[in-house]
Amino acid sequence: MREFPFELALCAHLEATTEDILARQIGGGVHAPSNRIIDVLCVEPGTGFDARAELTNERIPDAAIESEVGVGQSRYWRNAFDTSPEYARKVVDRAVEIGFFERERNRGREYVRQVARYPDWFGKLVGIENKPDLADPGDLETQLRKDVSLGLVDEVILATESYVTRAHLNRIPEEVGVWRFAGDEDEREIEVVRESTPLETDTAGTELVEQHAGKADVRVVSAAAKARQRRRMAERAYGKGWRTYDFPACGEIESRDGGLPYCHWKGRVVNPVHCGTDCPGYDPADPPDVDLDFERDSRTPWVADPAGRKRRQTGLDAFRTEN
Ligand code: SF4
Repeated sequence: MREFPFELALCAHLEATTEDILARQIGGGVHAPSNRIIDVLCVEPGTGFDARAELTNERIPDAAIESEVGVGQSRYWRNAFDTSPEYARKVVDRAVEIGFFERERNRGREYVRQVARYPDWFGKLVGIENKPDLADPGDLETQLRKDVSLGLVDEVILATESYVTRAHLNRIPEEVGVWRFAGDEDEREIEVVRESTPLETDTAGTELVEQHAGKADVRVVSAAAKARQRRRMAERAYGKGWRTYDFPACGEIESRDGGLPYCHWKGRVVNPVHCGTDCPGYDPADPPDVDLDFERDSRTPWVADPAGRKRRQTGLDAFRTEN
């Protein structure tokens, strides 16, 4: 199977069999987040999950969480950020827009506060690298070594459709778990070929930032920097999810099994970014009426329209301001 349909099928399967928040294509580095993109991130809900879901359905910006804007007493917005006023302005506006901050005016000044305390809401993070065909491994080994030496996620998994041999297992770090995800379209199952070994996420790690011929740029990443990046990743996953595509304007497409883009002409799930007039099967039509937020909300713990937000929008909250 191609990588995109494999990834979507795995996400749909994990969504149906776990309570995890799942997201595709999440930056998994610290000094260079986009140097390492994790195919699928599984975020295990922790004790404060319901409080997090109540806050907003969107990603909360890290700068808003780390700012000195607290709960209860509101603060003059400029005094709550240790950044440029321009950046602070953007963060405040976004935090208000998504319902994490509330603001009010007092003698010509704008004051903000958090609508509720930011909770400790997630547990284990599991990073999955998809490689349906192990005969075409690319730089798989390097990617997995990066993940293990950095230790940003609690577990690293390689997921494949291939039959896994001992030679394959010997080539990848022993901490990496291996899943075989295969079977008929409606009955794919995960076979655990090798269990993963939990990584040390609360100690410093080593990040491979760049690699040239005979030379590697490696940085040490502190435990605090890792913790901060883990929260960013969890937030990004919460806001993003895995249905990160729009359905094409083609008569051959339909939504299947909770929002998978199935093409009748190709007889399989397709990547909508490749759809269009260049495709020989293209049949101009309105895109299907699919509500991907509804699919996510009805199948996962993620809440599309939290009640707390609705209450705030009807103006039932009141708050005090600092003098
Ligand atoms: S553009 Fe091609 S691949 Fe995409 S849905 Fe239409 S027929 Fe299928």
